[in-house]
Amino acid sequence: MVDRVYNFSAGPCTLPLPVLQEAQAEFVNFKDKGMSIIEMSHRSPEYDAVHQDARAKALSLWNAPDEFDVLFIQGGATEQFAMVPMNLLGEGHKGAYVHTGHWAKNSIIDAQTVGDIYTAWTGESDNFMRMPSPDEIKLQADTRYLHITSNETIGGVRYTKFPDLGVPLVADMSSEMLARPIPWNLFDIVYGGAQKNLGPAGVGIVFVRKSILETTNRDMPRYLRYDIHQAKESMFNTCPVFAIYMVGKVLNWMQDEGGLTEMEARAAQRSKVVYDAIENSGGFYHSPVDRTSRSHMNVVFTLPSDELQARFLAESATRNLSGLKGHRSVGGCRASIYNAMPLAGVEALAELMAEFAAKNG
Ligand SMILES: *Cc1c(COP(=O)(O)O)cnc(C)c1O
Repeated sequence: MVDRVYNFSAGPCTLPLPVLQEAQAEFVNFKDKGMSIIEMSHRSPEYDAVHQDARAKALSLWNAPDEFDVLFIQGGATEQFAMVPMNLLGEGHKGAYVHTGHWAKNSIIDAQTVGDIYTAWTGESDNFMRMPSPDEIKLQADTRYLHITSNETIGGVRYTKFPDLGVPLVADMSSEMLARPIPWNLFDIVYGGAQKNLGPAGVGIVFVRKSILETTNRDMPRYLRYDIHQAKESMFNTCPVFAIYMVGKVLNWMQDEGGLTEMEARAAQRSKVVYDAIENSGGFYHSPVDRTSRSHMNVVFTLPSDELQARFLAESATRNLSGLKGHRSVGGCRASIYNAMPLAGVEALAELMAEFAAKNG
């Protein structure tokens, strides 16, 4: 077995080792069929069992009520930037968007090409260091939905509480999927790419309130329609079988580990270890994020100079800590600590941070 590093990459991200090993062990000859799962028909009983288990576990582990279904759609979260307005915005409807950073911006760029949307709040003047409070979000008449990015993966900010403004929420939760409980009654759609918390890249996961499918738009190519994906149980065409299979394994791992409550508690604990390391450094490390909006999944921090940062990153690599460089658009460092990151990983990071600050501070 090769050495595994602690992988702090923002996505694709670290996955549970037992899941990888299990997939490896059964890869070449799946269920004694003499072929791997990626070679067999997606209509085979063997794959179907995997598919239905992944659907059921996604809904149950996140405590989604019966009013919701889950869809597996290729194209990642980015595909949903387009599909949301294409499906939801009818004649005279507007989409409201909260601009909280990199990913919100991307959702706005795509939605603009599709329908009548507006920015209901922007964090631009604050350098995207916080999420808005509900009273700062300005809604216009005829707003069909309010789109939020629950956790900005690059900026490292999250909503501690979701805005309840009497308009259905649509949330990009790519980097927080099945990592925290959500008040489902506020949402029409929750979506994300699997590769942040739940599996490999290649599938977008969309939780949709079934009742809205009666009125979503139909006059467009079928692959873009939520109602079609829902009616076909995410098997309208050849679905991304490998990605869904891996997601199913990660969900089963989550269940064995204690489910959502445990994942949320671990995320709070892990992120606290890193935020404490920042705070106990006497100002050597700095978090640009407002305390009220600190992400539990992506902890962003800076060092006193570019030179020190480069040395810190070089040193982290020698300790098997990988992927700590911040996104090119904001710089600094970033520790992405998704569900599969063990506590020992952040403890090793905190130890390095303390030693490095003591030597160089
Ligand atoms: C990574 C990410 C995306 C993009 O996801 P893709 O699956 O690559 O399209 C969108 N939104 C957020 C919040 C992300 O973290």
